[in-house]
Amino acid sequence: MGIDIAIDGPAGAGKSTIAKAVAKRMGFVYVDTGALYRAVGLYMLDRGISIDDAEEVVKALPEITVDIEYMDEAQQVILCGKNVTSRLRTQEVGEAASVTSQYPEVRDKLMELQRSLAERYDVVMDGRDIGTVVLPDADLKIYLTADSRIRAKRRYDELIGKGEKAEFSEILKEVEERDRRDMNRETAPLKKADDAVEVDSSCMTVSEVEDRIRELIRGLKK
Ligand code: C5P
Repeated sequence: MGIDIAIDGPAGAGKSTIAKAVAKRMGFVYVDTGALYRAVGLYMLDRGISIDDAEEVVKALPEITVDIEYMDEAQQVILCGKNVTSRLRTQEVGEAASVTSQYPEVRDKLMELQRSLAERYDVVMDGRDIGTVVLPDADLKIYLTADSRIRAKRRYDELIGKGEKAEFSEILKEVEERDRRDMNRETAPLKKADDAVEVDSSCMTVSEVEDRIRELIRGLKK
C-alpha cells in the first residue's frame, strides 16, 4: 500500500493548484476526481440527456466508460474511448457535474476507478468526498476551504485574465449555488472528515498553503 493524501473542499478553494504542486514535489500521482464527474456531465450534455432527470441519467450510465491516462504527468480523461480533457473545464460542464454527481449511481460508477488508482500509486487526490468516502483510511486528509467571496473573486480574476467577460455577482451566485448543492446532497456530501486538517486559504498565498501542507506531510513521515 502506498501513501494517499486526500484534499477535499469547495469549488475554487485552490485544491487542484495545491494538489498538483504537492504531487509534483513528492513524486506522487495527482488525481483530479472532479474531472471524472465532469466527464459524466459532459456525456449527458452531448447526448441531450436532461441532467435533472435522474432516471434518464442513470439509464445512460451503462453506456459510459470513464478512464484516466497520464500524458507528461498531466491527467487525461478518456470518455468512451475519446480524450475529452480539453472540454471539461467550462462552467456549463461544471454545473452538469454538480447536478449529476448528486445521484448515488453516478458516484458508485466512479468509485472503483478512484480506489484502484489509490491502490496502484502514491496519490494526491482532490475532490469532495475523498477523505470521507473514497479513501477513509488516507494517510493525510486536508479540508481546504476559503470564504465564498474570495473564491468567486479568484474565479473572476482567472476569467478576466484569460480575456473572457465576467460578472462578479453572477460568479458569486454560481459559487454559492454549487456549495449549497455539494454540501446538502444526500450521498457523499461535501464536508470535513473528522480526522481532516482544515486549511483556510482565504488570506494565504498559494505558496503559503503549499508550505503548510508540506509541513503536515513532514509530520506524517515522523
Ligand atoms: O472539482 P470540480 O469543480 O472539477 O468538480 C465538479 C463537480 O463535481 C463538483 O461541483 C461536485 O459536484 C462534483 N464532484 C463530486 N465529488 C468529487 C469531485 C467532484 O461530487 N470527488
